[in-house]
Amino acid sequence: MNIADSEEMFAHLAARGMTHTDNLDEADVVLINTCTVRDHAEHRAVSFLGRLGAWKREKSGRRVIFAGCAAQRLGEKLKKHYPFLDILSGAKNIENFGDTLDNSGLFPAESPQGELLKPNLTGYVTIMRGCNFACTYCIVPTVRGPIKCLPQDEILEAVRRKTAQGAKEIMLLGQTVNAYTDGNTSFADLLNRVSEVSGVQRVRFTSPHPIYFTPAFLEAVKSNPKIARHVHLPAQSGSSKVLAEMKRGYTRETLLEKIRALKEIGMNISTDLIVGFPTETEADFDQTLTLVEEAGFSAAFCYKYSPREGTPAAKMTLHSDKILEQRLEILLNRVRGLAERAYQGQIGTEQEVLMESENKGRSSGNFWVKTHKNYPAGSLVKVNIEKADGTLLFARD
Ligand code: SF4
Repeated sequence: MNIADSEEMFAHLAARGMTHTDNLDEADVVLINTCTVRDHAEHRAVSFLGRLGAWKREKSGRRVIFAGCAAQRLGEKLKKHYPFLDILSGAKNIENFGDTLDNSGLFPAESPQGELLKPNLTGYVTIMRGCNFACTYCIVPTVRGPIKCLPQDEILEAVRRKTAQGAKEIMLLGQTVNAYTDGNTSFADLLNRVSEVSGVQRVRFTSPHPIYFTPAFLEAVKSNPKIARHVHLPAQSGSSKVLAEMKRGYTRETLLEKIRALKEIGMNISTDLIVGFPTETEADFDQTLTLVEEAGFSAAFCYKYSPREGTPAAKMTLHSDKILEQRLEILLNRVRGLAERAYQGQIGTEQEVLMESENKGRSSGNFWVKTHKNYPAGSLVKVNIEKADGTLLFARD
């Protein structure tokens, strides 16, 4: 999501004559787009901001912009600590970023258009912003506000722009992406419409919420091979008690029902898991361990609970670092090898591979595949999977 937001903000800078560089010495402007989901991410962004004071003093006219979720959360406090900061633009302000630049008086609005960032094979398209949930550990609803869905026409226009720039795969983005509706179009309809845009070979989406996988979504996937057979579905915990305390809106049982339905239509499922939520007991933690097996995830990103100021869970008594570390290590041991097993499970199947280089690409289920022959990047090829080595499949083609 941050990549998509950065691209959107950069387009406003490009409209004011900027071009992109990765080299700090060459830059006139640094845009730091931030995440605040975990404390660590926010610290890294703020400490990078701190280092830019010296960079700015080296050459007159240099500008620093701090944007996104950490900017929203920390607000004007940042300007006090870092008086050299030129523009602060919170996550709720991304759509109005152009006005923010104009109002700052630092960027002439009438400049020749700089070069836009070109998408790689995957074009990211935000279809909604914000979240209507209130998970007790999560800062997102505070910094991003309630859901705002973009109209279907605007989304399709953004998809056309991405394919015109060379994207073959479209990744639809939203905090609870499958809750999308613009009043007339459901998420299932939108997936079909996007897949019909000329040049779109595959459609992915992230992050879904389990409760929004409707029968219409399942039908859309079954009848449309362009919808990728991979879902990254954040489970967070395997304990119904902890899920209720997190206010996730589902139980272990209802989650497993959704997972079964997704697997029946051929979906490969990866997940996110949190260990050490304040109320998590040893028995609750065991439930997360058994969920990994029962759900048959192909990969799991595991995190220690990180309290976020301003959330209900931040007021609860924390587990010690020792417990957090121990549980994380046990869970990591449990999930180690999941991906390798999932890759082994692909041997003998036929897969459609979207080539990302001349001899490597990704299957619809998001498995990496190496081909025998060379193909142009961006082409879609059908291959049979002969063997797997770690997290790489080898095709007979
Ligand atoms: S669904 Fe929960 S975890 Fe996800 S963004 Fe919304 S509040 Fe945060």
